[in-house]
Amino acid sequence: MSTITNHLPTAELQALDAAHHMHPFTANDELAKKGARVITRASGIYLTDSEGEEILDAMAGLWCVNIGYGRDELADVAARQMRELPYYNSFFMTTHVPAIALANKIAELAPGDLNHVFFAGGGSEANDTNIRMVRTYWANKGKPEKSVIISRKNAYHGSTVGSGSLGGMAPMHAQGGLPIPDIHHISQPNWWAEGGDATPEAFGLACAQELEEAILELGEDRVAAFIAEPVQGAGGVIVAPDTYWPEIQRICDKYEILLIADEVICGFGRTGNWFGSQTVGIQPHIMTIAKGLSSGYAPIGGSIVCDEVAAVIGQDEFNHGYTYSGHPVAAAVALENLRIIEEEDIVGHVQQVAGPYLKEKWEGLMDHPLVGEAKIVGMMASIALTPDKASRAKFASAPGTVGYVCRDRCFGNNLIMRHVGDRMIISPPLILSPADIDEMIRRIRKSLDEAHQDLI
Ligand code: PLP
Repeated sequence: MSTITNHLPTAELQALDAAHHMHPFTANDELAKKGARVITRASGIYLTDSEGEEILDAMAGLWCVNIGYGRDELADVAARQMRELPYYNSFFMTTHVPAIALANKIAELAPGDLNHVFFAGGGSEANDTNIRMVRTYWANKGKPEKSVIISRKNAYHGSTVGSGSLGGMAPMHAQGGLPIPDIHHISQPNWWAEGGDATPEAFGLACAQELEEAILELGEDRVAAFIAEPVQGAGGVIVAPDTYWPEIQRICDKYEILLIADEVICGFGRTGNWFGSQTVGIQPHIMTIAKGLSSGYAPIGGSIVCDEVAAVIGQDEFNHGYTYSGHPVAAAVALENLRIIEEEDIVGHVQQVAGPYLKEKWEGLMDHPLVGEAKIVGMMASIALTPDKASRAKFASAPGTVGYVCRDRCFGNNLIMRHVGDRMIISPPLILSPADIDEMIRRIRKSLDEAHQDLI
């Protein structure tokens, strides 16, 4: 076999890809027909493919490349760390400087008394850790029957058996025997799709009160925790009505339910604060982190745990850990990424510059005939496509058909924008300038116009 490099023709790379590479979350029939687009390099907010096309990445990879591509500082830190200590772990009474430094930095950044970090390889593993952690917490407190975790339909919390069970994605639950026992799902606060005739405020409140109903139905003595993303990402950038989060916090406090905020997408500046919990005004006991922690330059995630939960879990050995928990190279890269976010005030940039400018342009998309709702928090945003704005109607075609057409048009216009059903979503690098935003919106409008023409 010839050496496989960027220099091979695209068709050859695609054939080799199809022969041996199984893709996550990919329509395999489409893949077989079209072949995967081969991404060869990236810089700033642009990807380059094997045909030399420059693609504006409005998804920051998978919601993760917060500081943008091509930052040499991270590459340099990784190389240095690989030479000095490429691997060691923190099992069995050892530790190392990158994990110590990163845990301390995260504890400094996290709100309230979220002062303790358990590292994982990514968000899925971290949420698996959370399942074991909250059940261990209650068992150590003498209440082992408190094992049920309440989550939401259409939530995404990862792809392992545990995190996929926490998630509420029906197509995932249809495969592989999910969910595991003692996971319960309540409604998502998606007013556009599910709010019916209620006002957004009344609907938000009703969705939150489903948590209280579930606790009472399952039994207060059985429920261990509630998990949710401050802003639901992969579910379609669903922004809860203002009434939702205060009610969730009230219910968790009243019934002493642990609140887990999955900050895998929302964390590290995405919503205009360091954490999405700050944006929606909640104080969780545990936060799940990954993605923006290293801006995707190295795989790393973790759970940030409050003092009380850490103390109770720490009463005994916690029989849990991953070979790559706190991996020194990933930890060093993450620390450098956090240094850049802090020193370049990227959170301030989202809050004061890019976020407000994008909000104005994003909400301006409401003038397009296909757009029925435009939602945005910081630098994550969605539009709902509809044939009739006033009635919030769905298209006659199977759900997702129009979204897919639009996504394809974006792809053709060298723009990465995702569709979730008939909702289009973006989560660009946080470093976008107003000029970058103008260019992104230009490509989005062009793609929407073409999709609209396709439908006529
Ligand atoms: N939680 C949320 C909110 C996510 O969006 C994701 C991934 O998209 C995960 C967890 C899983 O993270 P990972 O893919 O790093 O395992």
